[in-house]
Amino acid sequence: MLHPGYEPSRRGVARRAAPRAPHGTRCASRAASRRIVVVPPSPALVRERVGAWFARAARDLPWRAPDRTPWGVLVSEVMLQQTPVVRVEPVWREWMARWPGPADLAAAPTADVLRAWGRLGYPRRALRLQDCAHAITERHDGQVPDGLDELLALPGVGAYTAGAVTAFAFGRRAVVLDTNVRRVLARALDGVALPHPHQTVAEVRRAEALVPQDDAEAAEWAAASMELGALVCTARSPRCGECPVADLCAWRLAGFPADEHAARRRTQAWAGTDRQCRGRVMAALRAADGPVPRAGIDWPDPAQLDRALAGLVEDHLAEQTPDGYVLPR
Ligand code: SF4
Repeated sequence: MLHPGYEPSRRGVARRAAPRAPHGTRCASRAASRRIVVVPPSPALVRERVGAWFARAARDLPWRAPDRTPWGVLVSEVMLQQTPVVRVEPVWREWMARWPGPADLAAAPTADVLRAWGRLGYPRRALRLQDCAHAITERHDGQVPDGLDELLALPGVGAYTAGAVTAFAFGRRAVVLDTNVRRVLARALDGVALPHPHQTVAEVRRAEALVPQDDAEAAEWAAASMELGALVCTARSPRCGECPVADLCAWRLAGFPADEHAARRRTQAWAGTDRQCRGRVMAALRAADGPVPRAGIDWPDPAQLDRALAGLVEDHLAEQTPDGYVLPR
């Protein structure tokens, strides 16, 4: 699966699509060549504008509902890490109806968990979520802990997820720096097309400095800045005409200079990759009632299929039996 900001090239290697300056704006390269110097806007004003926009534009998502649970928020954050909202929402609803709490998921057969994960991609996330459910059940009496250190100690929970659960489930101050927020900050404050290919320490420090001290305001800033990146300041085609900080945005005011790291933003295409092969095997195992023989998996490259099967067994996403492969029991 490709990041939404990537598109396949004809030669089979995905090139990150260069962000396009909105229609009717000045040519990026010409503006950049004139070396326009833009003073970064006031972070407080940016926060205020983005907060007001969020109050009227926020999507009505089930993991934001007043009756949301910390577990529901945690599940949503894991699912959303590499999959868009539109694909996550139906799976999340089904998942939460079936396993409303950590103890329910911990008790479920792993094969059922992987089947319910379906085509969300990166199925190791499903295993980690079940490991996390086990840990919450055993260490925290079935309740998602509200301390950052306890959250970070859970399997599969990193800085982003711990921060998101702290802010969105418990309404407390936390740094929540995902791809969308990084892009908004890079454009609005730094005047560049996209952030550095790898998150930097300086970036985290700057994001931390931007978080309001008040818990409720901090949680709102986290949700609002993320939503702006998801809906308006998108990777490929930012809709600056709808943006609440358009008149402040350093990238726009500088004339949309091109992405200086474009050459480094390359990734492997999906078609013909090991990942596609693994996905094909997982789909076959999910659909089967019994063991799937190797010969029953439709894939043109036998060596690649063997590699995928071995990798899935090693990752505990499949088991080999005398009659073929099955989902872990
Ligand atoms: S004006 Fe808004 S949407 Fe356009 S690049 Fe700047 S922050 Fe993004």
